[in-house]
Formats: sequence, structure tokens, C-alpha cells
Amino acid sequence: MDMPTQQPCLPIETTAPKARRSRQANVSWGSRVVTVGGDAPVRVQSMTNTDTQDAIGTAIQVKELAIAGSELVRITVNTPEAAAQVPYIREQLDRMGIDVPLIGDFHYNGHRLLTDYPDCAQALSKYRINPGNVGKGDKHDRQFGQMIEAAMRWKKAVRIGVNWGSLDQELLAHLMDVNSARAQPWDARSVMYEALISSAIDSATRAQEMGLNGDQIMLSCKVSGVQDLISVYRELAKRCDYALHLGLTEAGMGTKGTVASSVALGILMQEGIGDTIRVSLTPQPGESRTQEVVIAAEILQSLGLRSFVPSVTACPGCGRTTSTTFQEMAKQIDDYLRAQMPQWRTRYPGVEKMKVAVMGCIVNGPGESKHADIGISLPGSGEAPAAPVYIDGQKALTLRGENIAAEFHQIVENYVEKRFGPGA
Ligand code: SF4
Repeated sequence: MDMPTQQPCLPIETTAPKARRSRQANVSWGSRVVTVGGDAPVRVQSMTNTDTQDAIGTAIQVKELAIAGSELVRITVNTPEAAAQVPYIREQLDRMGIDVPLIGDFHYNGHRLLTDYPDCAQALSKYRINPGNVGKGDKHDRQFGQMIEAAMRWKKAVRIGVNWGSLDQELLAHLMDVNSARAQPWDARSVMYEALISSAIDSATRAQEMGLNGDQIMLSCKVSGVQDLISVYRELAKRCDYALHLGLTEAGMGTKGTVASSVALGILMQEGIGDTIRVSLTPQPGESRTQEVVIAAEILQSLGLRSFVPSVTACPGCGRTTSTTFQEMAKQIDDYLRAQMPQWRTRYPGVEKMKVAVMGCIVNGPGESKHADIGISLPGSGEAPAAPVYIDGQKALTLRGENIAAEFHQIVENYVEKRFGPGA
């Protein structure tokens, strides 16, 4: 074989997400403190889609989201009736042993609800304030101020969450005027970006001037376009060191929403931007709300920022996998590992970093299985009906017959007990 003529003089650089530089903020409930920003891992958060007036239904969904891995859960607080139910939702969660901090999402009347319903203000761990929806003219500063006062009184964190669907129109009009007076006016999109960022940072500055600590403040500037989000957050991260809540707003449904969120969040987090993420996915009919948590966790795991569940490496299959056995087995093992995690998380610390391979044939099967902690290479079309299993890079045994899937599950379970169990 001809050898390459040009030899490299330096090893190829490895890549990893850049370190973040935001300040730390704490969101707490009881003894549970979720640190956002600073050296803390990027946090997963989510939002319910139940009617908050339905305290039981909301508490059940919050529990599902928390069990799926959401470390912060936001609920809508839009009416006096909803505000009145917030303490009961909190109580139900505490009774179920779910200490996930609750965030209240306020628009238009948050100043009144937080004043008139002190038990609600106290039961929440963080308030989301949208500066575009706190009132116009004279009322804007006064009502924004009332919400900040509530945060100071009850020692709560806030997210100043700007969204381009509800951008402060007075600020935007002002910036448009400033722009038209420029010798070389910016394009409308750049003015919009500026308005989003100014709205967030100016509001945070005002909150700090009122006495709120900077480490009680998080910011977000959400837009629904991937390139817009990247531009806005790069600039936002340059201009401030507040912890940043990152998400593509109104990402959409299914594949589109998942891909768009993954691309946008992935690019920004690789640059060290973003301290807590939410995937704003529109659920498909009948789909669980927890899907947004699963995707957020997968994005973080794919980037190597965090580990939540053992990862399954599976090949796509091709003309060498003409039966559905391989697809079914890859899905079964993935479902099985996810289903075990609520118990495994406490029983087998470190198991979330385990790598499992389920491969379709001999071409890449043995090689990929050897790279995993435990892997199986299924027989492709025309191969002998045997499935070698690799453990820690070595071929350990070969499975044959009808019960390969069940036997492989048992092998994985034994491996987990031996490697991550109390006696390991
Ligand atoms: S490992 Fe085999 S079955 Fe899987 S994609 Fe590659 S060639 Fe096809």
C-alpha cells in the first residue's frame, strides 16, 4: 500500500464546548438549590401545558417532567384563579417528594398577581418577567418595579425573558427613530436584534438599581429563527455576564422543532453560551410533554456537556439488515435503558456514562461494539445466525437462537451491577 507522503507535524486538535463565563444564579426550593451559570452544568428546564387552575393535573405533569430530568419547571400564572392554585400545586409536589423548583410565567398582570397572592409569590422559586408585557407608558416601569420588589421581598430569582413576538414596541419604535437618524442606517433586522438585547439588559440594570442582586437575574432573548438566535445570543453574551436561559422559541413540531433547536442550541453551547436550556417543542397529538426534556437532555449529552442516560450506538441499517430484528432490538434496548434510569440513577452512580452498541452486521458491528462498554453485533443477511457480544472491548460470548434480545438485556443488567453496583 502507498503510504501518505505528507506527515502531520502536530496532533489533530480535539474539540470541546468552550468554558462559559456567566455569573452564577441560584433557584431554590426548600433544601434543593439548582445553580444556574458559573461552573454549574447546563440545566434542563421545561414548561407545563396544563391549565394551572387544575392543580392536580398540573402537579402530575410537573412530576412527570421532573422525573424525565427537568431540573426547573415553569408553569403559566395568568389569572387570579391560577395564582390561587400555585401554593396547592407546590404542596402536592412536596407531598409526592418532588422538590423541583417552580417558575411562574407572568405576562400583563404579574405585578398584580404577585402582590395580591403572596402565597403564590412565595411558593414559586423564580419569576419570568417579559419586559414587553408589563404595561405601556408610565405603567411600564411601575409594574415592572412591582415584580422586582416581589422578587426582593420573597428572595426569588427572576428571568427577564424577552421574546420577539412580544417585544417592547415603544423601545423598538425609539430604536427605529435613532436608526433613521444614522448616516448609514442599519437594516431592520439588526435594529430588531438591538431592541431585544437592549430590552433585556436595560431591564436587568433597572432591577439591579432597585436593589435586586445580579445573581438573582437570568436573561433570555428568544426568537424563532436559528440564525437570528445565534446572532442575538452571541451579542448578548458579549454584553453581559448574567446567566443565560437559552432556547429557540416556538421551535415547531416533531422533526423540524427538534432539528432547529438542536442546531441552534448546539452551535451556541459549543461556544460556551447558555446556562439553562428549554426546547420549545409543539407536542404531536398524543405525544408526552416530557419529549421536550428528552430532547434537551440529548442535546447536552451529544455535545458531551452532561450525561443523563446510557447512550446507545446503533447503525442505521442497510441492505445487509433486511429483517426488522435489528431495529426492534436497538429500540428495545434504548427503551429498556431509559426505563431503568429512575432507579439506576441512585443505585448505580456513573451508569449514565455507559455506552452500549447495537449493530446490524459484521461490517462495523464488531469494531463499534469494541468501542462501547458493552456491544452486540447482530447477524446481517446471509451471515451465520450468531451475535457476538463484546464487553470492555473484548469478545465475551456469542448469542444464538430466538432469545437474543432477552439474553442481551440480562447481560447488560449483570454488567451494570458488577461495574456500577455498591460492591463495584
Ligand atoms: S454495520 Fe452493517 S448493517 Fe449496519 S449500516 Fe453498516 S453495513 Fe449496514
